[in-house]
Amino acid sequence: MDIEQLTPKILAGDRRALARAITLVESGREDHRAQAGALLSALAEHKRQALRIGLSGTPGVGKSTFIESFGMMLIGMGLRVAVLAVDPSSTRSGGSILGDKTRMERLSREKNAFIRPSPSQSHLGGVARRSREAVALCEAAGFDVVLIETVGVGQSETVVAEMSDLFVLLLAPAGGDELQGVKRGIMEMADLILVNKADGALKPVASRTCADYAGALRLLRKRPQDPEGFPKALMVSAVEEHGLDQAWTEMQALIDWRRENGHWQKRREAQACYWFDQEVRQALLARLHTPEAQAAMADLSGQVATGALTPAAAAQQMLQQHLRG
Ligand code: GDP
Repeated sequence: MDIEQLTPKILAGDRRALARAITLVESGREDHRAQAGALLSALAEHKRQALRIGLSGTPGVGKSTFIESFGMMLIGMGLRVAVLAVDPSSTRSGGSILGDKTRMERLSREKNAFIRPSPSQSHLGGVARRSREAVALCEAAGFDVVLIETVGVGQSETVVAEMSDLFVLLLAPAGGDELQGVKRGIMEMADLILVNKADGALKPVASRTCADYAGALRLLRKRPQDPEGFPKALMVSAVEEHGLDQAWTEMQALIDWRRENGHWQKRREAQACYWFDQEVRQALLARLHTPEAQAAMADLSGQVATGALTPAAAAQQMLQQHLRG
């Protein structure tokens, strides 16, 4: 792939070039990694920044309906919107259940929208890197808002929160005891909780659910990166397109405050350091997975088992012989 040709096209907002660049960052091939690295460095010089919104929710809560309605609203305001997905489950099922264009029909036809489903990769680390780099590519391509969608399963929320400026948790109306179903850690990550499906017969339940979560949020420890009143819980209806404008207003209010108070910049800096740390760890782990390293591990394990070497001495040997640069 010709990086020198690709770079100006991405900067010009060419969606086909963007799609090709994302395919490049998804590739595990050594030469592709080198090209992707060069491309990302060249694009980083332009320092374009989008508002990155992480969005999580269990299947069926209305994520794709919400992204379609919310995305269409933003496009109506003249903004360009990219949608990416972080979907660790696709590694098991082999198919993507997120970021699927058929689930966002109107949005996928818009020229100011870009939708990219989750890649199938073997581990969350791979998906995370690809998504983070895809976010950077979308920013370079001049998108104003990048929505990063994930399902509510364990680790993927952390991954998405670490690449977002704000994190939105989408919930469905439910009975009071369901509050327990949302893990505390995820509640603590949320900047905004949106109780979706606040329409028709579900509206009174949605109202109660929203009040319950608002109460639960108030009990959480105050975070320095929040202005008064945040994190918040609001009601929306993705189908009837109610509450979406208010959700957008709240997101902007939060981001404006964080920008003015240095938290936005601090968060991006901390995220960059987090990903640096992750890259180092993953590169080290990858060295353990070469055939030679695996053979050495097996050999040393044998010696540890018989007592010929202590675990610490064996580890020392392993590190010295196989994990050096
Ligand atoms: P996802 O799996 O989280 O992406 O959820 P979907 O967007 O596919 O929605 C799951 C189901 O909930 C679909 O049948 C939607 O029509 C329905 N749904 C989504 N948003 C709303 C809403 O605001 N109100 C109502 N009543 N139903 C909704």
